[in-house]
Amino acid sequence: MVEHPRIVLLGLPGSGKGTQAAFMTKAWGVPAFSSGEYFRNLRRAGALSAEIAAKISAGGLVSDEDVSAIVVEAFLSTQRAQAGFVLDGYPRTVAQAAFLDEYLSKQSLGLSAVIYIDLPEEVAFKRIAGRRICPQDGDVYNVHYSPSSREGFCDRCGSALVQRDDDREESVSVRMRKYDEVTKVLTGYYARRHILISVDGSLTPDDVFCRIAQELDDKA
Ligand SMILES: [Zn+2]
Repeated sequence: MVEHPRIVLLGLPGSGKGTQAAFMTKAWGVPAFSSGEYFRNLRRAGALSAEIAAKISAGGLVSDEDVSAIVVEAFLSTQRAQAGFVLDGYPRTVAQAAFLDEYLSKQSLGLSAVIYIDLPEEVAFKRIAGRRICPQDGDVYNVHYSPSSREGFCDRCGSALVQRDDDREESVSVRMRKYDEVTKVLTGYYARRHILISVDGSLTPDDVFCRIAQELDDKA
């Protein structure tokens, strides 16, 4: 295994990036940073301007400079990110990717690998648009793949399940389109640097992780 791996995860929303990031944290002890989650938390805490919150809510993005500055300040420059990390949701543009390269190379560092979790768009769409969450305990269901036994209610506590704002179909379509472009551009960018690893996202989460670990070992 690569020591102190510095990893970027790419893939459509619903491809399982968050799950794989959690596996990596558990298996390798590296912290994961999800920019999407970070922005959602800021928005929930009322710490984002109404304009930025509305953009994000519509599946839109803030500027490359803003995003990069936030990711550095909130995560990359912190002590916990010094011995490896997993980035989920950043970079999203070539400008951000170039910024990240430059930021790392200033410390004589580079990415260990960029992992692309490849999943057909229609599967990714169902995974996201079908997602329902229990507001009480955070349990996650999917109306297509893992429904609760009583439709619309949590199995554990009986609360009415909710759908996250940006999981609604209109919002998901926008996100998918954006991510599709993003993914194409960034997989090309990193393939040219010979650090791209593609894995089949339709496998079980355990199998996806096994493939990733194997590929990283082969690379090392
Ligand atoms: Zn519940």
